[in-house]
Amino acid sequence: MSSLVSRSLLGLVVATGCAAQATFPTAGQTTPATAPSPAKAPPVTARPGPPATVAQPDKPPPRPEPHWQRFDRQSKQTPVETEAQLDAVLKSLRSVHFAKLDKQYKQRVGFGKRRFRYLSRRKVYVPRGADRFRYLVGRNRIIRFLSRGAEFWRNMGPYEHPPTPMMINKRLLGVLLKLRQELKRRKLDHDAIWVLSAFRDPQHNSWVGGDPASLHVHGMAIDLMVADVNRDGFVDRKDKDIVYRILDRKLLRGRGGIGRYPNRRSIHFDVRGSRARW
Ligand SMILES: [Zn+2]
Repeated sequence: MSSLVSRSLLGLVVATGCAAQATFPTAGQTTPATAPSPAKAPPVTARPGPPATVAQPDKPPPRPEPHWQRFDRQSKQTPVETEAQLDAVLKSLRSVHFAKLDKQYKQRVGFGKRRFRYLSRRKVYVPRGADRFRYLVGRNRIIRFLSRGAEFWRNMGPYEHPPTPMMINKRLLGVLLKLRQELKRRKLDHDAIWVLSAFRDPQHNSWVGGDPASLHVHGMAIDLMVADVNRDGFVDRKDKDIVYRILDRKLLRGRGGIGRYPNRRSIHFDVRGSRARW
């Protein structure tokens, strides 16, 4: 009861506060009577009356807790730093074969075409509800690995939402994990890299101008954002070079592709099984 009253009072304060702010600056400095706009004049004196002084000063209404924050608080999840942890997360997610995915979903995102038939036995994860806030590698949440096209926004609800399929290659996640481990081992900032884009359904891929044969469509490529990995206070080529070299010489070698986008802060890598550099 009392909380209800105070809440409504608070609402009043906020409402009147806004009204006052909206009207004062124009007519404000000395005399509102001389102001040429008569429409605004009368309510100014009447509104900020007794309730404003009764309630608390100008405390803004509490912001709703972001969903991811609530999830972290309730789940007490920790960053995924080992292969065992990664396995555990993947195992706990619902998964189906590509062939079993909803036909209408496939039509919507462009997976209905014949040329994708060969994917039929491919495992596709179907994270549900709050699953998308879970860490998959490091502090990269599952939501970062989802295709963020029309389907993503279609399923975007506050907490519960229809599942958004996620095709993601386990070896690819392993490379990302090892990249983090290697940065940590070299006493560099392993949280200064994060996933910009991983799986992209064909529709989303074409929207972002991706090659139709892009490995992102199969969940076999990641675009990474690279920030101040070497902690020298600058985000520059040196940071990207460090990441590039680890991927090139240690993690991928002849088994994957790396694209360095010059003049950009991101770097692409994939697990195509053969060597490619550009
Ligand atoms: Zn890419």
